[in-house]
Amino acid sequence: MVCPCRSFWSGSNLIFLVIALITAFLAYWQFHRGSGAQAAAAPSKVIFAFLGAPGSGKGTLAKLCVDQLGFKQLSTGDLCRDNISKGTELGKKLQEYTSKGALVPDEIISSMVHEWLSENTRDEKTIILDGFPRTAGQAALLLDLIKNHFPQYTLRILALNISDDAVVERIAGRLMCSSKECGAIYNTKQFVEGIDNPLCKRCSSPLIKREDDREEVVRERLKVYAQTSKALTDFFKNAGIKIEEINVEGKESDQVFDAFKKMI
Ligand SMILES: [Zn+2]
Repeated sequence: MVCPCRSFWSGSNLIFLVIALITAFLAYWQFHRGSGAQAAAAPSKVIFAFLGAPGSGKGTLAKLCVDQLGFKQLSTGDLCRDNISKGTELGKKLQEYTSKGALVPDEIISSMVHEWLSENTRDEKTIILDGFPRTAGQAALLLDLIKNHFPQYTLRILALNISDDAVVERIAGRLMCSSKECGAIYNTKQFVEGIDNPLCKRCSSPLIKREDDREEVVRERLKVYAQTSKALTDFFKNAGIKIEEINVEGKESDQVFDAFKKMI
């Protein structure tokens, strides 16, 4: 007599079982591969901090990101002025320091950033920090803030690299519209000396050179910037945060914006 189990494993039953096992395995593999791909494609929320000397074009790049990519920009300078003019509790504290010409402590700036992020991260858009962090102390507070309160965000540091000479050339050639409402910015290269009357092409007001844009003043600002930015980049390197870079020397703002879009 033939053993019943043996007859079960023979012939078409065995083939059927093997096919069923292979099908089950393929389905399992497909499912896991699918869910893995989905997780990798999920948009990660990013907070960008732009580093770059005055005149490197940080502000222009940030504006392009806001206008064309829908990013949100936090300018700590604007936020300070806003709080002071509205007379908020924070504004009163800020005024105590600024009226004495003292530096505002990192903790106050950090709590102001915390408040802004709480209001502005609900729609989970990409954030650009402008003017913050400025010191290693502020950078440490920012890392804590993200870790403890906004863990859905990753901090990415972008440095816009440019030589001092190129900044001087950019800024020293800058002409500004004298009308406060207009504020258009030009470069002396856009006008032919002695032929063109440097008037604003938008509102026809005379163009002026800002006192702050003189070469000696610019070189001094760059020296101060080099010291503070060194402390800041050292902090990020020690914290294991990669500093991404774009070389902006000799590039127009749209070329810098294109390089940035490729990076993100
Ligand atoms: Zn103008």
